[in-house]
Amino acid sequence: MSEKHEGFMKALKCRECGREYPLEATHVCEFDFGPLEVAYDYDRIKKSLTKAALQSRPRTMWRYRELLPVAGEPTVGTQVGFTPLVKADRLARALGIRELWIKNDTVNYPTLSFKDRVVSVALSRSRELGFDTVACASTGNLANSVAANAASAGLKAYVFIPHDLEQGKVINSLVYGANVIGIKGHYDEVNRLCAEIAGKFGWAFVNVNMRPYYAEGSKSHAYEIVEQLGWNIPQHTVVPMASGSLLTKIQKGYQELIKLGLAPETKYAVHGAQATGCSPISVAQKAGLDFFKPVKPNTIAKSLAIGTPADGFYALRVMKETGGAADDVTDDEIREGIRLLAENEGIFAETAGGVTTAVAKKLIASGKLPANDSAVLCITGNGLKTLDAVVGHVGKTREIKPSLREFEAMLASEEKVSA
Ligand SMILES: *Cc1c(COP(=O)(O)O)cnc(C)c1O
Ligand SMILES: [Zn+2]
Repeated sequence: MSEKHEGFMKALKCRECGREYPLEATHVCEFDFGPLEVAYDYDRIKKSLTKAALQSRPRTMWRYRELLPVAGEPTVGTQVGFTPLVKADRLARALGIRELWIKNDTVNYPTLSFKDRVVSVALSRSRELGFDTVACASTGNLANSVAANAASAGLKAYVFIPHDLEQGKVINSLVYGANVIGIKGHYDEVNRLCAEIAGKFGWAFVNVNMRPYYAEGSKSHAYEIVEQLGWNIPQHTVVPMASGSLLTKIQKGYQELIKLGLAPETKYAVHGAQATGCSPISVAQKAGLDFFKPVKPNTIAKSLAIGTPADGFYALRVMKETGGAADDVTDDEIREGIRLLAENEGIFAETAGGVTTAVAKKLIASGKLPANDSAVLCITGNGLKTLDAVVGHVGKTREIKPSLREFEAMLASEEKVSA
């Protein structure tokens, strides 16, 4: 293995016992079933990934390519990332905090969610390892991104989803010609089936046997936030949690930038957001527990509906280490969160974005996120895909004949009502 060119990667390493494994399509330690994670050669990375070098690189997530687990040049999803970091002054006022930023992955390329980050890494690596078929277990956005990126890369795709997902998420997988399999069960059952299929078929399951590589793509969300803040780690980051992977990788990303001397070692907190209808991690955090209890999901935030979160334990640890908090919000609060973000910042997020915004509001109100501080909200998916969640809960179209008189009459009658 030492002679094989593996870029800046050193090995896969067990998060529990530290045993090292070759950089193959494998994800659990044989000794303790701990999850494997990519280990890097940070001394070499430090010489190559400098602020000066970054100046001439493309504005995609691949500008941090030394820290992403592909050996050669990426071949899938080369345009992903570097989404806007928006200063959200109006939303800050509405939520009662001094300074607020939105990391806006609702406009990520090509499928409008943060999953384009993880998928471009997973598929680029899958190709390096010689796979011609890719697959995933998904709550929706992952399926969309695997389907689209596999299509453009000429890979065969099988995506497995709970059968009752939003229509927008289903159509956004089918249109790319992927094999879409709806499982009559919730995500945790989809995931269990996929683990069996992955063991039997020689496919690259992006979030099963390719999970160590896949998950690393999330770090780019953190690198971009820090670079866009002038190489500063935000005091507070509020992150939606499904499996808890994104939250743990944001922490890994911040720590790597400190280690490489690209960001100062400051105090910061990473907070987690869930829907009350699927809140195993936030319930455990609020109770001060290190372990979560699995739940059966029942929430409009389907993209976050994972009752047995694979990285829940590690997410709890990150919140504890950084002094972060978690909270959860009801379906009505999620819709209100979507509206707050849309009406104040002109950003239409999916239900997960409503969760993050509404949880931030709660954390600010309770003082867990101090009103005098600065925070970044990770807004991870686009509202056009979850119209089902807001239909009937937004304003109503007023219909009139194409006549100026009718329009004036309408305005006058409304004035009378509001007077
Ligand atoms: C997948 C997903 C997340 C977070 O997922 P993790 O499993 O916790 O990494 C957040 N928001 C959206 C919109 C997602 O699709
Ligand atoms: Zn181990």
